[in-house]
Amino acid sequence: MTGAAALEPGNESLTLIEKLVGFDTTSHKPNLELIEFVRDYLSDLSVDSVLVEDETRNKANLFATAGPEGEAGILLSGHTDVVTVKGQDWHSDPFRVTRREDRLHGRGTADMKSFIAVILALLPEFLKRGLKTPLHLALSYDEEIGCVGVRRLLDHHISGLEVKPMACIVGEPTEMKVVTSHKGKRSWRCHARGHECHSALAPSGVNAVEVAAELVTHLRRTSRRFQDEGPFDPAFDPPHTTVHTGTIAGGTVLNIVPRDCTFDYEIRHLPGEDAGAIQAELEAFAGDCLLPTMHAVDQEAGFRFEETSDFPGLNTPTDAAVTEIAKTLSGANATSKASFGTEAGLFSRAGIPAVVCGPGSIQQAHRPNEFITLEQVSLCEAFMRRLADRICQP
Ligand SMILES: [Zn+2]
Repeated sequence: MTGAAALEPGNESLTLIEKLVGFDTTSHKPNLELIEFVRDYLSDLSVDSVLVEDETRNKANLFATAGPEGEAGILLSGHTDVVTVKGQDWHSDPFRVTRREDRLHGRGTADMKSFIAVILALLPEFLKRGLKTPLHLALSYDEEIGCVGVRRLLDHHISGLEVKPMACIVGEPTEMKVVTSHKGKRSWRCHARGHECHSALAPSGVNAVEVAAELVTHLRRTSRRFQDEGPFDPAFDPPHTTVHTGTIAGGTVLNIVPRDCTFDYEIRHLPGEDAGAIQAELEAFAGDCLLPTMHAVDQEAGFRFEETSDFPGLNTPTDAAVTEIAKTLSGANATSKASFGTEAGLFSRAGIPAVVCGPGSIQQAHRPNEFITLEQVSLCEAFMRRLADRICQP
């Protein structure tokens, strides 16, 4: 467990949590008001921000650096969006922090505005002491709908930095435990194209539904193989890579051999596994076992695969510098693995070693009456103060 901390967090943190939760930044909605608030807050502390907007200019990522320029530094990262409250039974206004005993209720209190609030609240302390190592802040939009913003932030800004941050801590709710590993996920849509004809003449057509079903069955076999043979990592639940088909649609009426069929599938893989190899296996099966007979009827028949999402897994070594740093700051003596995905995998893939460590519980994330305990906020403050001890002037 993490070390002892005062139960009552500072007023600055509490005020900023209230402020940030007050912006309705449900994914899909603009987040500019929140981003502009943070930019102005930083500007008042003489810290400049770079905004990386989306195409609509209704949303933006923010990147800011405090302390000396041209050095690697530590990056703290969080997303500004929250999941919808629609259809959930809230006992109070989700966009107004409501304190009940030692809990702060509100959308985003756990996932993950409290982390951002605590950083902002304690930043003046860092600046007053004087940073000898840079402290970077990265805030993204639309994490909850596919890590959309952070990809743009990485591509349009961070990848161009002369010196990249040497370590990234993503403050998703882990109850301040240090998470070094999570599964990755990739998904595809397959379009099967057959050859239409009257069903009485079925052998002279190519049945798109049936060839699609053969691929789905192949995926099912692959899934079974992972379940039976592994590889296994008991830190994950389930402890192996999973493959699953989620939707399928094809055909028009019963007496026509269907020309088109589309299905969606995903691979949630152990961080060390290569989802691309599983996809290549599927495409090889399609090419070797199905295409020749399809082409014998119609050269236009075939399959088209469209990748619909790509979230790299996270697999940061337990002895990596970033892990050591996060362990020291959180007071944790162990690391763990998470069942949920985060932006950390994308930072890691971009060459910035990353771990996940933030206040609040993932059990609360996305739920009605989401909350964070005051103790978690205090622990995050303690984390930040240890970071100040490490990267500020003595
Ligand atoms: Zn989150």
